[in-house]
Amino acid sequence: MKCNNCNEKAVFSNPDLCKDHFNKYFETNVLETINKFGLINENDKMIVAVSGGKDSLSLLYVLNKRYDVEALAVDEGIDGYREHTLRDMADFCERLGIKYKIVSFKDEIGYKLDELLKFKKFTPCAVCGINRRYLLNKYSKGYDIIATGHNMDDECQSITMNLLRNNLDVLARLGPKTGVSGRDGFTQRVKPFYFLKEREIMAYSLLNNITSNFNECKYVRDSYRAKIRDILNELEFKHPGTKRKIIGNFLSILPKLKDRFIEEEQLYCVNCGMPSSNDICSRCNVMGQVEAEAK
Ligand code: SF4
Repeated sequence: MKCNNCNEKAVFSNPDLCKDHFNKYFETNVLETINKFGLINENDKMIVAVSGGKDSLSLLYVLNKRYDVEALAVDEGIDGYREHTLRDMADFCERLGIKYKIVSFKDEIGYKLDELLKFKKFTPCAVCGINRRYLLNKYSKGYDIIATGHNMDDECQSITMNLLRNNLDVLARLGPKTGVSGRDGFTQRVKPFYFLKEREIMAYSLLNNITSNFNECKYVRDSYRAKIRDILNELEFKHPGTKRKIIGNFLSILPKLKDRFIEEEQLYCVNCGMPSSNDICSRCNVMGQVEAEAK
């Protein structure tokens, strides 16, 4: 199979491209997304949320070619998994000379995720997600933006999950630029991989020796997200272009969703001071239940 653009052998199919043209296609896609949605301004102080997986390391690699970047990792405390990805992340950052910081659930909230799950019947991804978001927000203060490795597949899953759960206020906060800029307590989040598929990031990661570790967290297989992921993958296989249409349709209604579901007045959690939609944020609520049970 030949590259669509030259006589070299294609290393990627659909589009059929050789290594050089695939890298160009990939990096152009990122740059176009950044420019189209105004994700990064020239003087922005940026930090990249990294887990040590293919998405976040590939993002760090691409952004590092053009911008000053630093990395912020959260160690949730998932034995047998996170210690390996964090080691990959540290090796990668040291190889590229990128400054990084690791913050952990254990140090910050007193429990590893594995320990938290022994208390209550929390859904792992829910309790992980709220604490992870809290720490990313807390440690990205002082930066203008935090870039995340969310890709088209992730976003399609989030859109579908929130629609099915009727979480329209959460749905209104998705998109390539999330959070509400200009409000105290938020760091604007940007997703430069918004229009790239997971398989494209996997290929980019392998072709550029970024990582070949594609292991997943042990908790993902039982998650609602994994069920939605499988359904969407099947739909995409049978009806190619499904994911792109979901993203396109979502972006066309996003301005109306923001108008309708994002409140003008921002509340702050009376406990931790983070932005919240109630007096007590969902993280403090959950952690309060943990503390009550621990007594
Ligand atoms: Fe956390 Fe769930 Fe992701 Fe595992 S799969 S790191 S539990 S959000």
